[in-house]
Amino acid sequence: GEGLPRPEQTRVIVVANQKGGVGKTTTTVNLAASLALHGSRVLVVDLDPQGNASTALGIDHHAEVPSIYDVLVESKPLADVVQPVPDVEGLFCAPATIDLAGAEIELVSLVARESRLQRAIQAYEQPLDYILIDCPPSLGLLTVNALVAGAEVLIPIQCEYYALEGLGQLLRNVELVRGHLNPDLHVSTILLTMYDGRTRLASQVADEVRTHFGNEVLRTSIPRSVRISEAPSYGQTVLTYDPGSSGALSYFEAAREIALRGVPTAGRIDVSYDAP
Ligand code: ADP
Ligand code: MG
Repeated sequence: GEGLPRPEQTRVIVVANQKGGVGKTTTTVNLAASLALHGSRVLVVDLDPQGNASTALGIDHHAEVPSIYDVLVESKPLADVVQPVPDVEGLFCAPATIDLAGAEIELVSLVARESRLQRAIQAYEQPLDYILIDCPPSLGLLTVNALVAGAEVLIPIQCEYYALEGLGQLLRNVELVRGHLNPDLHVSTILLTMYDGRTRLASQVADEVRTHFGNEVLRTSIPRSVRISEAPSYGQTVLTYDPGSSGALSYFEAAREIALRGVPTAGRIDVSYDAP
C-alpha cells in the first residue's frame, strides 16, 4: 500500500474514555493495523482485562500466556510478552489476560505504581514508530499508568446522546497526571466513532464536539459499519477482513491524518528508537 510518513521518535498514543462501548478498542486495533499496513512498526498494549484488543488482533491470551499483567505487577520485561500479530507485518501486541482484573488492586501497594508501564516501555529496545494503548473503561490505576506512559491522548467519542457527559472527568485526570507525573501529556486527538450521517442527532453531536474541541477533532469520522463489528470475531481488523469497506477506508484516513499532522507539541518520549 501507499506509505505514510514515520515519526522520528516513537509516538505513544493513549486511547482513553472511561465510558464503555464508545469504540476505544475498535479504534486502537484498526488505527494500529492501518499504520502498520502502511509501513510503520506498531505495538498495541492491551490494558483492558477483557482483552478485547488481543482477541481482535488474533492473539492468544488465555490465562497462562505471558501478558501485560506480568509486566505491570511482576516487572517482567515488555519484550517477553510481546507477540507478532498474524497477517500484519510490523504489528505487535502485548496481550491482556484475565489476571489483569486484579492488577488495579495489586498495583496499589507496589513501588512506583503509576509509572510501571512507562518504565517498561522505556526499557523496550525494539524500534517502534507507534505504541497505542487500549485503556479499560475506568479511570483507575491502569488508565493512570497509560497516561503516565504516553504523551498523546486520543479520545474516541460515540455520536450518541450524552456523548460529552463524563468527559470533564477524563480531562481533569489528564490535567492531574500532566501536573504531577507527566508534563508531556496532552489531548492530541478526538475521533468521532459510529457516526451515522443520516441522523440529525449524529450531526448535532459532531457539531458540538467540533465546537468544544476544535483542532483536535480529526476531519475523518468513523461510520457505523457492520464490517467493523464483524471483524473481531474472525481475529482480524477490518483492514484485513474487508479492506475495501467504508469502515476500513475511514480508519485508514484517520490514521493518515494522525501520521501527517505528526506530534502536535513537543510531547515526545524517547523509547530507544534509532531512525534508519
Ligand atoms: P470500547 O473499547 O470503548 O468499550 P469497542 O471498541 O469495544 O468499545 O466497541 C463497542 C462495540 O461497538 C463493539 O461491539 C464494536 O464491535 C462495536 N463498534 C465499534 N465501532 C463500530 C463501528 N464504527 N460500527 C459498528 N460497530 C462498531
Ligand atoms: Mg475496549
